Amino acid sequence: MNKIQNKTTENKLIDPFGRRIEYIRLSVTDKCNLRCFYCLPKGFKDFDVPDDWLTFDEIERVMRAFAEMGVARVRLTGGEPLVRKNISQLIGKLDAIPGINDLSLSTNATLLAKHASDLKKSGISRINVSLDSLRPERFAEITGGSSLQPVIDGLMAAKDAGLTPIKINMVAMKGINDDEFEEMVAFCAEHGFTLRMIETMPVGSTGQEAGKHFLSLQEVKTQLEKRFDLIPSVMSGGGPARYMRVNGTDLKIGFITPLTQHFCETCNRVRLSADGTLYLCMGQNHTYELRPLLRQGISDNELKEKLKEALTLKPKEHHFNDEPGKVVRFMSKLGG
Ligand code: SAM
Repeated sequence: MNKIQNKTTENKLIDPFGRRIEYIRLSVTDKCNLRCFYCLPKGFKDFDVPDDWLTFDEIERVMRAFAEMGVARVRLTGGEPLVRKNISQLIGKLDAIPGINDLSLSTNATLLAKHASDLKKSGISRINVSLDSLRPERFAEITGGSSLQPVIDGLMAAKDAGLTPIKINMVAMKGINDDEFEEMVAFCAEHGFTLRMIETMPVGSTGQEAGKHFLSLQEVKTQLEKRFDLIPSVMSGGGPARYMRVNGTDLKIGFITPLTQHFCETCNRVRLSADGTLYLCMGQNHTYELRPLLRQGISDNELKEKLKEALTLKPKEHHFNDEPGKVVRFMSKLGG
């Protein structure tokens, strides 16, 4: 009996704090076609070189190893994942891995109109779309000059393709979009989207600089409660959002509060960057390099052992509040 129990846990990924890892955020490129001011600096060009990108076969191999150790969910992210060529091929490969039963994608939706139907066909079930403003001029200011309309077209195409749920991720920022929450609630209610508000995080110089627009979501929630009857709710997805539902409607609003109420104790994830580096925490600098191992011809069993070894490095929590200057890489490296 003991033997069976041991074998069961042996094959799972448990970190030093007893947290079980069952979710991977997979960044397929660090490139992005937007320049949101809180994420990437204007004119930034220092992206990973293609030789350093994991190939689709390499990514599949790592994800298969993870799946054999209990990982069931994978989210593709970036940079902007839809700028990586032939992304649907990769999704098809991941969808075929036994054990992976939830494939999702985070996107800025600028290219979504073209991809939505293929994404759905190749195995993506649900998507998150970043959208901080519904006002074209403001959207352009936030994103470094991009147009809003392709994003709206992408969202409608996603809806038509049957991707569900569609969650809108809105970074709440004082003096930037804090007069727009009700409009965003109305937009999401109209289209059947879920709204998720996010606090700005001090990731990279851009994120640190954006701290001057920091808005506590506790305040935002209080502001929304004056206007809407919010009742506690839940939503599947494995993420850290705390949900409320607008009473009398299906609209759910999620609050992601890494700074005012962090959720590290329930962290269930690690992140793999496009260049094959495993990041054990978004708010810390603990990493483990997989690419050299993959290219040196490591066996599948050795790979699994290495993944377990990497997990021993996972820190207890981020230090965004007490050491906001700690993370110098930009958010586009890991995709949130
Ligand atoms: N391009 C994809 C997208 O737009 O969803 C994936 C990558 S993007 C970096 C992931 C999310 O991180 C977006 O919702 C973006 O708004 C958010 N983000 C970027 N920098 C941030 C920061 N400093 N604080 C909070 N959220 C940030």
